Amino acid sequence: MSLQIKDISKRFNDFAALDGVSLDIEKGEFVALLGPSGSGKTTLLRILAGLEQQDAGQILFNDLDMTGRKLRERQVGFVFQHYALFRHMSVADNIAFGLDVRPRGQRPDKAEIKRRVDELLGLVQLDSLGGRFPSQLSGGQRQRVALARALAIEPSVLLLDEPFGALDAKVRKDLRKWLRRLHDTMGLTSVFVTHDQEEALELADKVVVMNHGRIEQVGSPEEVYHRPGTAFVYEFLGGANRIPCTVEGGRIRVAGTYVAAGQPADFTQGTGIAYVRPEEIVISSEGVPAIVQQIFRASALPRVEVQLADAPVSLDVALPPEFAQMALARGQRISLQFRKLNVLPA
Ligand code: ATP
Repeated sequence: MSLQIKDISKRFNDFAALDGVSLDIEKGEFVALLGPSGSGKTTLLRILAGLEQQDAGQILFNDLDMTGRKLRERQVGFVFQHYALFRHMSVADNIAFGLDVRPRGQRPDKAEIKRRVDELLGLVQLDSLGGRFPSQLSGGQRQRVALARALAIEPSVLLLDEPFGALDAKVRKDLRKWLRRLHDTMGLTSVFVTHDQEEALELADKVVVMNHGRIEQVGSPEEVYHRPGTAFVYEFLGGANRIPCTVEGGRIRVAGTYVAAGQPADFTQGTGIAYVRPEEIVISSEGVPAIVQQIFRASALPRVEVQLADAPVSLDVALPPEFAQMALARGQRISLQFRKLNVLPA
């Protein structure tokens, strides 16, 4: 199912939760809505589900206007952040719920529902746990039951609101991979909300970066990570360093030193902010002078915190494996080269 979001706005009292959001989602795409808390991600997902009505704009499913249509009429599976399983129902009854509540005539018979529940239990790898109650499951298992319940109605569209938010890092990673496979094999169109950039970049075909009820940028994970369109996207993704600089006749000057790095042609003069990722900074024998502040060798991503010698600016510098053994000490003077600086006007 293809989804079209056309100029959607939504206010809560006088607060604009969504302000003219437009987005096209193709059939089979896995889309991440990524943004800080309060940016409007959940509101957009709820409007897609039919749980909330927009004030203006249209939602089209396969070119059909969904305005006024409820969740049940939209053929969507919906998974909330905190599982929201029915505590008094067994796992099997939870999964069957969406089928049990269908009006007579559309409801499969008991044997068919049982067959489908068993199939779904297999799919989410909980074969023997249909008789348990939610309180007897781990967080990851509960989340998979919630997914099975959402899939029971055979949705074309799967909407997920921070589905792995409450789980520990290892379980999250496993479930992510599993969910991506499930999406692919079932031919779903999926939209999920997250504020975790790693999750969005790893899982999605298309990342939609949201801020203050608007879309800042839409692109593949590579595009939004390597070619951020706005300062916000730069700062939200990848923990970029921010360095005040001046641009003089197309040349970039950082703390008194000219640096060689690519620069867009449309900004050749003035004060700017240079954005640079930790892995795009190289410790070198010449360049911008800096002083080592802290060394973090033992972390998963070894890095050094430095301060520019001639400006009160701290930077995070990634230590690639070949530098991991480099003799570095606190207070040591080093020089920095920048592989890629992206300068936006200040
Ligand atoms: P989070 O990551 O914290 O879930 P979000 O990006 O999903 O945030 P939304 O839940 O869409 O953000 O909320 C966007 C804004 O709209 C927030 O400022 C929120 O307080 C407000 N909001 C959401 N629902 C309502 C409501 N029912 N009544 C009033 N304000 C609301």
